[in-house]
Amino acid sequence: MFQHVRAQQPLIQKTGVIIKSPGEIDVMRRAGQVVARTVKALMAAVRPGISTGELDALAEDMIRSDGAIPSFKGYRGFPGSICTSLNDQVVHGIPGKRIVQEGDILSLDVGAIVEGYHGDSAVTVGVGAITREAQSLIDAADGALAAAAARTHAGARMGDLSWAAQEYAEGLGFSVVRQYVGHGIGRDLHEEPAVPNYGTPGRGMLLQTGMVLAIEPMVNAGTWRTRVLDDDWTVVTEDGGLSAHAEHTVAITENGPEILTAR
Ligand code: MG
Ligand code: MG
Repeated sequence: MFQHVRAQQPLIQKTGVIIKSPGEIDVMRRAGQVVARTVKALMAAVRPGISTGELDALAEDMIRSDGAIPSFKGYRGFPGSICTSLNDQVVHGIPGKRIVQEGDILSLDVGAIVEGYHGDSAVTVGVGAITREAQSLIDAADGALAAAAARTHAGARMGDLSWAAQEYAEGLGFSVVRQYVGHGIGRDLHEEPAVPNYGTPGRGMLLQTGMVLAIEPMVNAGTWRTRVLDDDWTVVTEDGGLSAHAEHTVAITENGPEILTAR
């Protein structure tokens, strides 16, 4: 007898979420590590006097020397290989001639493609000496990400991780951005589901083994409201207050969350 074997197709759920096999997660782990190495190198390179364009060139060199492709270059026309968002810029800052100054805070957002699969991670760093408030904002974004990632396991609801990020940031007196959210990730940089950084515990999509999520709280010192600059990319806080951003690509495995972009 012949066993009828169907060609392997991605498992796409009714919700539009694409479940990844362990083999696909292996590839995404490699993409995540390219991203992690690049983020680490950028963190070490940030200093007063460097331009955001120089950081972009460094990142592109590193990603390509690893045999990978920058996820963001040309994505919907984005001109950079990475996003560099300074101070009141929330996300999607375009690298260029702008010089980074002592006291600034800088979000570095990096994506890389390995064998067709994306990794995506961001970190916010202080440039030289920064104010205590700026440092606590950065720490809040990191803490909100860690709190959400810890709740990213099979059987939990999306609202559990969303609430964890919100509760952490708001508990420190900051706000979380609403208009921009995290996302599923895989062969596409942005897949279903949306991963909000605000929500209600016990509500929302049931999380399952094989989901891979880019969790990325954007935490503001003042209002959570944002607007987009005339370049049609750069998102800034509506009130001009500081914003910090932290992101990891997190796979839901049988053993719980695995941070694929861990540094
Ligand atoms: Mg990102
Ligand atoms: Mg992302």
